[in-house]
Amino acid sequence: MTRKNVKRMTLRIDRQGNPCLSVPLRATRADIWKFMMSCSDWLARNVGKREFFTLPDRLHDGDEVFLLGEPRKLMIRSAARTSMTFVSGAAVLYLRDAGDPEKAASAYEKALKELALSVFQERLSRYADVIPERFGTPRIKIRKMTSRWGSANQTTNEIHLSLFLIKAPLDCIDSVVLHEAVHFTHMDHGTEFYEMLLDRMPDYKQRSTKLKEYARK
Ligand SMILES: [Zn+2]
Repeated sequence: MTRKNVKRMTLRIDRQGNPCLSVPLRATRADIWKFMMSCSDWLARNVGKREFFTLPDRLHDGDEVFLLGEPRKLMIRSAARTSMTFVSGAAVLYLRDAGDPEKAASAYEKALKELALSVFQERLSRYADVIPERFGTPRIKIRKMTSRWGSANQTTNEIHLSLFLIKAPLDCIDSVVLHEAVHFTHMDHGTEFYEMLLDRMPDYKQRSTKLKEYARK
């Protein structure tokens, strides 16, 4: 716990998975206790988890979010419909109840899923040539996967990608998208699989290593 010159208490999980509480200079023990009690469910779910694989449970105007390899300032504004747009270094989230931190967090998750889907689809279209024609364009589904980045299924013609991948830079996203696209030709991770993958992306291994570094955040 650290006392800071801040207006409100915030609780976050650091890169090692430890809870860190920031409290205003004048907060009393009772204030802190009350705040901690209100966070107990969130704490139980998030302690020990790496920050990269979590999304905030509450969001306030001005909070920082991590997107496409960059920290961005989040601006929360009122609008009839949930959406998210980008302006230099910032993300603007629109939702009906802009003042409700929990609703803002769920609107952010919804907007993030839409963003992830459109980014991943666009990146996949760049590697369409590695997918045999009979598959056309496989459908992308976004899941909150934490143990793997993606999976490919020739039978259902689907690629499942982790929502958290949208936090990584584009070159890392591409390495996962291409990896799954190559599975439509080679289902296992044999020599032919890697030959095809490295032929299309010679620095695949460097990108995978970089992605692992990001995921430690
Ligand atoms: Zn694979």
